[in-house]
Amino acid sequence: LGHADLSIKSLALQNVSFGYGDRGTVLSDVSFRFEAGNAYAIVGPSGAGKSTLADILLGLTLPDRGSILVNDGQIPIEVARNRFMLVEQQSKIFSTTLKENLLLGVDVPDEELFSAVELVNLDDMVRSLDKGMDTRLTYLGENFSGGQRQRLGIARALIRKPEVLILDEATSALDPVTRTEVVNKLRAYMRHGIIIFITHDAEIAELADEVLSIGQEGTS
Ligand code: ADP
Repeated sequence: LGHADLSIKSLALQNVSFGYGDRGTVLSDVSFRFEAGNAYAIVGPSGAGKSTLADILLGLTLPDRGSILVNDGQIPIEVARNRFMLVEQQSKIFSTTLKENLLLGVDVPDEELFSAVELVNLDDMVRSLDKGMDTRLTYLGENFSGGQRQRLGIARALIRKPEVLILDEATSALDPVTRTEVVNKLRAYMRHGIIIFITHDAEIAELADEVLSIGQEGTS
């Protein structure tokens, strides 16, 4: 089998260490195994290195030491990363239609767009708009609340069918009821892949199968 036919089954951090220049160690010897079919939370105080770890997983930052193995080395990380998606706390809104804001250039059938919108509980809102998916958004997103913007960002990731979905405080602006509902739907949707919530929120951490705590022992 070529890499293209293999789905991502595991993601293993092996003794990963990292520091920003002379600012001291941010991540010190982190080892952890993420398995497909599970939901994870990465928790820790502000500044502990959670987002840095996400950047390392995505290949935006190279660790000083250690490695990341996909399927125990069967799939090169550079290849696997095409199937990772990161959703950050603030998703950018462009001055174009809601549909274009979701697609950002990819070609996805309308039904799939609607399922993604439904997964993040934005379907009622879209139906209430006169022009639906063709509604123009403003760059500052005034016609969208913070929580709606975050959900648009998640839907944007979902239409790309990630096998590894990392949400970095990406549900922080949702009201608690919607948050729990959306988190549970995302878990179900990602049941064959890996979903990682980077969060301060103890309730989200409780919904995860396993929690990775970063920086509890006062690194740096
Ligand atoms: P968290 O996501 O847990 O809040 P971060 O990974 O954002 O933590 O940051 C970890 C530490 O690294 C913090 O002390 C932060 O100030 C520092 N840091 C983050 N990004 C950079 C950067 N690009 N250059 C220098 N220091 C950084």
